[in-house]
Amino acid sequence: MADLIHYTAAETAEAIASGTVSAVEVAQAHLDRINAVDEKVHAFLHVDTEGALAAARAVDEKRAAGEELGPLAGVPLALKDVFTTRGVPTTAGSKMLEGWRPPYDATVTRRLKEAGVVILGKTNMDEFAMGSSTENSAYGPTGNPWDLSRIPGGSGGGSAAALAAYEAPLAIGTDTGGSIRQPGAVTGTVGVKPTYGSVSRYGLIAFSSSLDQGGPCARTVLDAALLHEAIAGHDPMDSTSINAPVPQVVAAARQADVKGMRVGVVTEFGGEGYQPGVMQRFHESVELLRSLGAEIVEISCPSFTYALPAYYLIAPSECSSNLARFDAMRYGLRVGDDGNRSAEEVTALTREAGFGPEVKRRIMLGTYALSSGYYDAYYGSAQKVRTLITRDFDRAFADVDVLISPTTPTTAFPIGERADDPMAMYLADLCTIPSNLAGNAAMSVPVGLAPEDNLPVGLQIIAPALADDRLYRVGAAVEAALNEKWGHPLLEEAPAL
Ligand code: GLN
Repeated sequence: MADLIHYTAAETAEAIASGTVSAVEVAQAHLDRINAVDEKVHAFLHVDTEGALAAARAVDEKRAAGEELGPLAGVPLALKDVFTTRGVPTTAGSKMLEGWRPPYDATVTRRLKEAGVVILGKTNMDEFAMGSSTENSAYGPTGNPWDLSRIPGGSGGGSAAALAAYEAPLAIGTDTGGSIRQPGAVTGTVGVKPTYGSVSRYGLIAFSSSLDQGGPCARTVLDAALLHEAIAGHDPMDSTSINAPVPQVVAAARQADVKGMRVGVVTEFGGEGYQPGVMQRFHESVELLRSLGAEIVEISCPSFTYALPAYYLIAPSECSSNLARFDAMRYGLRVGDDGNRSAEEVTALTREAGFGPEVKRRIMLGTYALSSGYYDAYYGSAQKVRTLITRDFDRAFADVDVLISPTTPTTAFPIGERADDPMAMYLADLCTIPSNLAGNAAMSVPVGLAPEDNLPVGLQIIAPALADDRLYRVGAAVEAALNEKWGHPLLEEAPAL
């Protein structure tokens, strides 16, 4: 049964539905794997053994009763610790929420449960999703299963590492500036940021509300599509939820055909500062798409150059407002409440003890950018840049069906290398941030290893808002062609743990 951990989500669901294996056996195989390797990987902050086995038993009982099972029933999943889970610890990677057990489920959590997905536990992440390496977690870093001394990306490094370490076939991430796609790229897994507003933010602990977007992570494009359809869709509990049909992403993943599609290569992403092996695999991907029948054109998006600075004003501004709720009165940590101190003093002491350095840096940056006298110069200008970026996308998508670029400028860097250099850390999201600012859809799909370090490289595919299906068409075509060329999926090359 050891092999069960290597099944795709689609294969797992089919094996359970046909009775070849039980959901409990599948859950147990993954829990055993977590027990065996997670001490080294540290993908999980909390493993919910009881909850997972109970959910699996419920699927087995449903099947025994002859009830119909959904397409992901019984499939195990690793959930980023930024989604609330009723009665199960939820920390967002922060000491501020240590020990908090939410009284309610996020909409994403609820939908997963309704789909019969077996939630194994909560994954490690940068504190409040601020970071690109998972080193900002208050609970220690996660290792990249390709090389445990390297970062698994961030902020959703735990989710990506859980996939790459075969601890779960599915995971959920959130992408505010790249936190699904960048970890996907550096771990050789698939990550999708759906169109903003298409996956509910209800119960997603807020970082930057106009950018935050939950989405699927998996080892294959089809698995990501199955998960996408399970979690997406209108939610009256989220005021920015889009009331429109979810694009047919599963059908698109099965179609896996790019014939006749117009694909734009973003001029601004490449060249100086990009690792040669990343560019090599990117250029090969362009040629691959051409050989599969896509028409390739080059597209300039000049405002993308300003995306990073605009993001690092908008995201901290929104975070400075969102994190004001952690006041020591309502949730989690409370420090210095000895009966003699004022509420204000307790709040200050709690924030001093409960927030890590990156969170404090962003709250200060954001508070400054929003302060009267500076608002127009900083936050206001950043919002104008945001509009220019959206216009660049609109112009591009008037000409092409999708845009492509490398997902990240480099492969996974060593843990500690950028920890003291926030600017270097921020650069990891250079290529992913524009889609968050504009709200459109984007995916990272593995395209091989960089020859100089044998670490995974991701191809980023970007589609217009509500055209998420195009990501899956292109991503699945690339994946199928590469699997055929190599004779196996990329992750089979990952060093065994
Ligand atoms: N790395 C970016 C940041 O630090 C993006 C984070 C994210 O997408 N949650 O803000």
